[in-house]
Amino acid sequence: MTFMAKERVYITTSIPYVNAAPHVGHALEFVQADIIKRFAELMGKDTLLLTGTDENSLKNVKAAEALKITTQELCDRNSKLFKDLVDAINLDYDIFFRSSDKKNHFPGAQHLWELCDQAGDIYKKEYSGLYCVGCEAFYTEGELENGLCPEHKTKPEMVHEENYFFKLSKYQDKLLKLIESGELEIMSKNRRNEILNLVKGGLDDISISRSVARSKGWGVPVPGDPEQIMYVWIDALSSYLNGIGFGIDEKNFKKWWPADVHVIGKGISRFHTIYWPCILLSAGIALPKRVFVHGYLTVAGEKMSKSNPKTAISPIDVLKKYKSDELRYYLIRDMPTFEDGDFSLDGLKDRTNKELLGDLGNLVSRVLTIAEKSGLKRFEGKPVLQEKLKLDEIKKGAESLDLHETLEKVMEFVRSCNRYINDSEPWKQSGKQLEESLYNLLEAIRIISILLYPFIPETSEKIAAKLGTKVESLDDCAFRDAFLGSVAKGEHLFKKIE
Ligand SMILES: [Zn+2]
Repeated sequence: MTFMAKERVYITTSIPYVNAAPHVGHALEFVQADIIKRFAELMGKDTLLLTGTDENSLKNVKAAEALKITTQELCDRNSKLFKDLVDAINLDYDIFFRSSDKKNHFPGAQHLWELCDQAGDIYKKEYSGLYCVGCEAFYTEGELENGLCPEHKTKPEMVHEENYFFKLSKYQDKLLKLIESGELEIMSKNRRNEILNLVKGGLDDISISRSVARSKGWGVPVPGDPEQIMYVWIDALSSYLNGIGFGIDEKNFKKWWPADVHVIGKGISRFHTIYWPCILLSAGIALPKRVFVHGYLTVAGEKMSKSNPKTAISPIDVLKKYKSDELRYYLIRDMPTFEDGDFSLDGLKDRTNKELLGDLGNLVSRVLTIAEKSGLKRFEGKPVLQEKLKLDEIKKGAESLDLHETLEKVMEFVRSCNRYINDSEPWKQSGKQLEESLYNLLEAIRIISILLYPFIPETSEKIAAKLGTKVESLDDCAFRDAFLGSVAKGEHLFKKIE
């Protein structure tokens, strides 16, 4: 007998800055990454999900100064807010990685630097440039909009320093080929085209260190130079490697790298699809396979931002009123996977009441009520509802990570089942006819519990428990000859939100 190793899937969220509390946009990214992981598990794959916080930023130093606490205290406090959110939103992460972790992060970050240095790709030079502290990034005049940072709408400061530089320009052609061939897949098409244009426009070498003085000594020291600290973006990106043991635990690192999917927001796509792959090329490390770039959430058309109180809706506050499944469902249902979407509390209430309570909750409760009353123990029949289930499209959607479309397809099936009840009126039926209707509906609900699991895992497991079935594999999503579970109606899945 040969033993087939399970296919491995390594997924990362971005690791956000901790200079302020998380907003609902972070919740969206966590939910997306979680759904990708749970689908991979339903496909029988062995998964690992890394999330965490990016803590070596100059922004943290400044924020801590303003609060008159140490930078580490600020990071501990704010990192916990993100940890609380990933737990509250039910992100099934395996690693919560913090880049201020000297034991697990610093050696890998420095090892990566040394590999690039050995490749001859790091040099030192005098530099002046326009720097946005918000982005922790240099901009050229051409990249600014009316002289302002396109992300923060603030005026960048002119910075003069002697820094280390990375030879990004050297990898321009290689990177172009990798993106064009799809070997490095940038999702979506729009984002891919944007990045291709940037690369074709020419890549300048990038500054990858800061003076100890300007960074106040906070961050990862540059190997062999006590005067310089690694630029926060360079050490932050290496978290994806270090979280799985790069430079410390080669066996584990080899097991999981390369990452299958980096889930990120569009504001940091340049770092993940240009700088990061070029650094990896330089270091001789395999590239991630896919970079999934989601859009931004807006509130009444305005970009959601940690620093704008008008738009900084706290997901933790939302989750005091709503179940994690309700927020998860709304975020995926209303936001296009790869474009911007508008968040509103009215929209959340509406989706919860109309679709989770109205469509899904009512379907499950009606069917189980009738099934319990029928007294039947075995349900067989012709699977007439099967043709309403677009399983191939759902599977394709899950493979191509278009989560929004995939959820829509599953909910279409839920609505078909409700129409089937309304048309067949099983409460008026008896005998073989009733058995056939219930067979179809019970099998349909069993399948729905599996297909909705990545999106709303707690609810799905509750449905499966009512049916005496299990959520295990996408392979179980075909109608069987008979419904073989049990039936226990129990409590309603959702309550009306007032
Ligand atoms: Zn900025």
